[in-house]
Amino acid sequence: MLDQIKKIFTGSEEEIPMNTNRKPDISREKSAALYEKSKTYFPGGVNSPVRAFKSVYGTPLFIQKGDGCYIWDADGNQFIDFCASWGPLILGHNHAKVREKVTEVMQNGMSFGAPTALENELAELIIKNNRFVEKIRFTSSGTEAVMSAIRLARGYTNRNKIIKFEGCYHGHSDSLLVKAGSGLVTFGETSSAGVPKSFAEETIVIALNDKQALTEAFAQFQGDVAAVIIEGIPANNGLLIQDQDYIEFLRESCTANGALLIFDEVITGFRVGFEGAAAHYGIKPDIVTYGKIIGGGLPVGMYGASAEIMSHISPEGGVYQAGTLSGNPVAMAAGIAALTELSRSGFYKELNVKAQEFVASIQRFATARNYKFKVFTIGSIFWFAFTDKEKIQTAEDIDPTSMEKFKVMHRELLNRGIYLGPSGYEVGFVSAAHTKIELEKAKRAIFEALDLVFNPHP
Ligand SMILES: *Cc1c(COP(=O)(O)O)cnc(C)c1O
Repeated sequence: MLDQIKKIFTGSEEEIPMNTNRKPDISREKSAALYEKSKTYFPGGVNSPVRAFKSVYGTPLFIQKGDGCYIWDADGNQFIDFCASWGPLILGHNHAKVREKVTEVMQNGMSFGAPTALENELAELIIKNNRFVEKIRFTSSGTEAVMSAIRLARGYTNRNKIIKFEGCYHGHSDSLLVKAGSGLVTFGETSSAGVPKSFAEETIVIALNDKQALTEAFAQFQGDVAAVIIEGIPANNGLLIQDQDYIEFLRESCTANGALLIFDEVITGFRVGFEGAAAHYGIKPDIVTYGKIIGGGLPVGMYGASAEIMSHISPEGGVYQAGTLSGNPVAMAAGIAALTELSRSGFYKELNVKAQEFVASIQRFATARNYKFKVFTIGSIFWFAFTDKEKIQTAEDIDPTSMEKFKVMHRELLNRGIYLGPSGYEVGFVSAAHTKIELEKAKRAIFEALDLVFNPHP
């Protein structure tokens, strides 16, 4: 088997053995018992819906601990983790530097509701190494950061409407839980109960990668569009990588129409590089939001812009935004330790090369087998898509029936010690803690899982 695998790594198309052996399902007794209990406490047994395993087999695994690229569940099953807490853990689990800094800072107390030097320290790490923000404000989650960025854009421009894209996720604030209605340019429709229709009417939802829709939206709501918000690289509904040309068009259209361009980089910030997608495209957004990685695994979000735009935030300006635990010292400590590691020269190059090699050999395997399977990828982000399309750039391009295949793949990977987020619409992450050894193991498991997905009856 190893020899054949080597051939795949080197791109040879020689004979590859078929493997259609299902493995027994992992033991889930303890996780299942914990889930029964958690259902009595929390709606659906969870504190965030995607954790509920609604679109994959089985019940949620309750995680006991993580170390490096590994996690262990309550039943003692060990997994190589590609979910990384949904993105924050670019250094892997329980990184020594992060743990030590957090432990050190915790000795002095956990929260003061007054400024600390740690906030300056994390801000300096970010601002000194980033061309896109001059002043920032810390929040406690990505949702909060984006919600505040929207308020800032409205306050700054004295306009009401925002334009967002179908297939982009920006957290769960009211203005952003809105999906496309019917027709090319329409008001959004709420995508959650509890969001008033009148709120949704302030959000215009259009398709990604559609210049005409954007032009029409600006024309229809002329003079009232405060901002266009897009994920730096849309990575919450598959990985919908946009063309350079389109992002440039967005930038130009915003400027021409007096609207602000917001890059929501909660997932791409410090992931595709220290300066995120803005640097990847070489385009300066007016407001940027970060989250996930900047907290090193603790809850932190952040928005930033030019000093001039940020001067509109209270107490300097009239846009109110606050937080009891904002800039929390323990969370700042984790962020400082994590970003210090990320700012070392060569960090991203090494990580991205490793991830790209991993992804390329998976793609070679699938291509050699003629499987309708494509790995979309950028930096250390990857997304497994059961498709034969060369590009997927809009939410509509994703075939919902392909998720049945992901479901089988997810089960087979869990049974082989590989943990992916429990939904085929979610991306996976390679972290600095994944070594070649674990990536080889993971590849072998992925090859076997793909064989089972595509040859269910040997
Ligand atoms: C995760 C995410 C959010 C929401 O962040 P939370 O910390 O979960 O509130 C917002 N925008 C993007 C692009 C994200 O990936």
